[in-house]
Amino acid sequence: MLARLDAVFGGRVEERVALTSLTTFRTGGPADWVLETSDPEDLVAAVRVTRELAVPLTVLGGGSNVLVGDGGVRGLVLRMRHGRIATAGPTGVRADGGVTINGLARWTIQRGLAGLERWAGTPGTVGGAIRGNAHFDGRLLGDMVTAVGLVDRDGTVSRAARVEMGFGYDESRVQHTGELVLWAEFLVAPGERGALRARARESLAFRKRTQPLDHASAGCVFQNPRPEDGPLPEDVPRSAGALVERAGMKGRRVGGAVVSPVHGNFIVNEGSASARDVRRLIELCRTAVLERFGVELREELVYLGEWPTESGSRRPQPGCGNEDG
Ligand SMILES: Cc1cc2nc3c(=O)[nH]c(=O)nc-3n(C[C@H](O)[C@H](O)[C@H](O)COP(=O)(O)OP(=O)(O)OC[C@H]3O[C@@H](n4cnc5c(N)ncnc54)[C@H](O)[C@@H]3O)c2cc1C
Repeated sequence: MLARLDAVFGGRVEERVALTSLTTFRTGGPADWVLETSDPEDLVAAVRVTRELAVPLTVLGGGSNVLVGDGGVRGLVLRMRHGRIATAGPTGVRADGGVTINGLARWTIQRGLAGLERWAGTPGTVGGAIRGNAHFDGRLLGDMVTAVGLVDRDGTVSRAARVEMGFGYDESRVQHTGELVLWAEFLVAPGERGALRARARESLAFRKRTQPLDHASAGCVFQNPRPEDGPLPEDVPRSAGALVERAGMKGRRVGGAVVSPVHGNFIVNEGSASARDVRRLIELCRTAVLERFGVELREELVYLGEWPTESGSRRPQPGCGNEDG
């Protein structure tokens, strides 16, 4: 298997790689094989060869929205890093899937292009942000997108316009189709560099004030509840963090995992947390909010890999591998 992967990727595939160093939560077991690449063509090749070999394929960007199980990830993990950024006509910018959102924001600011500067400081890559339709301060990244390059699980490459992407809150079509993001184009407009820098600095300062950036985490654990999830008391905002806080869970701990005292929707790894610790704490928060407010919170973060049970069996997480990024 490794010989075939090596033949396709020129010996760049590494074996038994710890995923603690490739995810911001710093939990989880090893991956069987990891390929780091900036080239969307490698992503297409990976889809085709893993399909041919019937090996699971998992794509990681910045690893800033995932919780990897303690059993690790079977098959090939493709880690998208860096990539090309270029203008696409007078009002567009195209970035490869592995480009960081932060790097893209910086690139546009330096060239006096407005639209993405408020996304400065958002961890992760273009690919991860498109999949989850990243949000910040009431804005959805999908609103800035004009088109996305995709490869499906058969290896067929296509281009989708924004209206075809199924963007919603924490939602895009690739979550349902299993397609992978090769690149995305964003709408930009001429802007004054000083003003753009000031807006970026505001975003960074807001993050610093409201998020526990000095600890390992995967950002917000839960999605904010939608109106259809049920009514809330008038004085309670539709914010998962507020619900977790008002359910008395801020500061609650399981092993090395703690509900951040700074932000109720962040669980932080104080250094020694296992993925199981984090998951138990997530369940405690969900139960506390359900009992107090009658609302069942859904995860924003994505579970990947295997989750060994107490009896020693290794339960694969549904939705990981070839079916879902
Ligand atoms: C401190 C902190 C602050 C955060 N703040 C925010 C915030 O303000 N707003 C927000 O929305 N999120 C926030 N997050 C969460 C996270 O940064 C975003 O969800 C980000 O968009 C994830 O991108 P990623 O590249 O790290 O994805 P990963 O974590 O690597 O992957 C997430 C999912 O996307 C899939 N994926 C990755 N690349 C691709 C690809 N090329 N094609 C298809 N699927 C792919 C993965 O398989 C996985 O299912 C924060 C996280 C942290 C740690």
